[in-house]
Amino acid sequence: MVPPIKEIVIVGGGSAGWMTAAALSSLLAPKDVTITLVESDEIGIIGVGEATIPDLLNFNRMLGIDEADFIRATNATFKLGIEFIDWGRKGDRYIHPFSNHGVDMNGFDFHQFWLHSRAAGNPYPIDDYSLCAIAARQGKFTHPDPNPRAIRSHIRYAYHFDASLYARYLRAYAEKRGVRRIEGKVQTVIQTPETGRIAEVKLEDGRSVDGEFFFDCSGFRSLLLGQTLGVRFNDWSHWLPCNSAQAVPSSHAGPLPPFTRATAKASGWQWRIPTQARTGNGHIYCRDFISDDEAASVLLAGLDSEALASPRIIRFTAGHRQTFWEKNCIAIGLAAGFLEPLESTSIYLIQEGISRFISLFPNAALPEVFRHEYNRHMRTEFEQVRDFIILHFTATERTDSPFWDYCRNMPIPDSLEHKIALFREGGRAFRCEDELFSRPSWVAVFLGQNIIPKAYDPVVATLPPPEVTASVESMRVAMIDAVSQMPTHEDYLARYSGPAAG
Ligand code: FAD
Repeated sequence: MVPPIKEIVIVGGGSAGWMTAAALSSLLAPKDVTITLVESDEIGIIGVGEATIPDLLNFNRMLGIDEADFIRATNATFKLGIEFIDWGRKGDRYIHPFSNHGVDMNGFDFHQFWLHSRAAGNPYPIDDYSLCAIAARQGKFTHPDPNPRAIRSHIRYAYHFDASLYARYLRAYAEKRGVRRIEGKVQTVIQTPETGRIAEVKLEDGRSVDGEFFFDCSGFRSLLLGQTLGVRFNDWSHWLPCNSAQAVPSSHAGPLPPFTRATAKASGWQWRIPTQARTGNGHIYCRDFISDDEAASVLLAGLDSEALASPRIIRFTAGHRQTFWEKNCIAIGLAAGFLEPLESTSIYLIQEGISRFISLFPNAALPEVFRHEYNRHMRTEFEQVRDFIILHFTATERTDSPFWDYCRNMPIPDSLEHKIALFREGGRAFRCEDELFSRPSWVAVFLGQNIIPKAYDPVVATLPPPEVTASVESMRVAMIDAVSQMPTHEDYLARYSGPAAG
């Protein structure tokens, strides 16, 4: 019988490293497995104040984390979706909410009824039928109602938080469960000559850490998977040309909004992410179209309030490592790949990498088929997220800058071309396999970016317009009523979790 893996080493202590350590220490009972994490305070982590998607709730629940405690420790706020400004055309504004639009009826998607009512003169945008979008605009929040018949049971939410504080929080969690942390800088990585597997990492001060299985969570350096095992990078910058970010915190300008904002700019876009202590801001741009100095000016001019520091530059390339698991090493987080944070998906991809590894947890023989399955799954995840992000850029009518001219005219992946064509022809949207983004998410962005179907469902089309308009309208009114009874986001946060860490 092949023995189980006994020694796991994680290189890197950002969100990726500590999420991996926390999950493994919780699920693999460290009495059987030793888990060591090496990190360098001198190098530090990316941590720019981050936005997440609802899947993070599952991760925290799996770890048994108390939500109010987590919110206090990470300066978190609640998030109901993302507001997109100026994407399709200048002056446009829509929300990609976490809740569905309306309620599907008789087996037909709600948006088909909405399209029918729109053709009959309904002036309300699809946003007005999403509980999360309405609540976000009004600065309201409450947890979902546990009664599945209540309208407020449809609320879905995520968080904005300080990623460095999250890493620190998970560090305490993992250390309590037996994870050993070593402070030090990895200088060389030693491979077993016969197999090429990683045997140990040597630190600058001469210490060495050996293991049977390694997680590369070293960030953009990709120290183990990229640099040591030589796994090449699959570059997607022809589809996602942005390659730089400048991030800066600012003070709060008013009540804490329960949503992320992404505003399109002439050569990229700007995020606004409110945590309890400050607002995180960043300008993502492509250096072929704008200089760093100009990008900094755009960022600072787009702040709602005073900057609390000077902008920090971060460089990146969109894409991923051609394999995510090679020999006895898996890369998680930025070491595995990067897609710009337009839909807040990086932390989700970390989570997905960890849970897929756990569900394939190998014995010491490391069966090849497990590795292939892991790589297949993660490649699909990255490709599906990639397509969703590209949609925001390709479906633009903006003609005001060379950057948008490029995005409007660039060739796109066939998979996305197919999805757009299906929606354009008849408002059809499907979730492929276990795809992260659901049908309502695709519909929100298609419609938000002005892709209006030429036709809608022929069965729905046979229904009398006044009847359809009346039932669609009754949903809108019920949602407005449900939101009117919700507290403000700030009041709810203060009552639920009390003061944050500061
Ligand atoms: P890092 O945070 O870079 O951590 C790397 C770790 O490796 C550090 O601990 C470092 O000390 C260690 N290390 C490196 N080299 C060595 C060495 N030689 N020896 C020892 N230790 C070493 N994600 C979201 O989900 N939502 C967002 O809104 C979001 N916004 C982002 C905005 C920007 C501009 C960027 C760049 C990323 C954003 N992300 C976002 C992604 C998110 O920040 C990362 O996916 C996440 O924080 C994980 O980072 P990481 O742990 O892989 O890397």
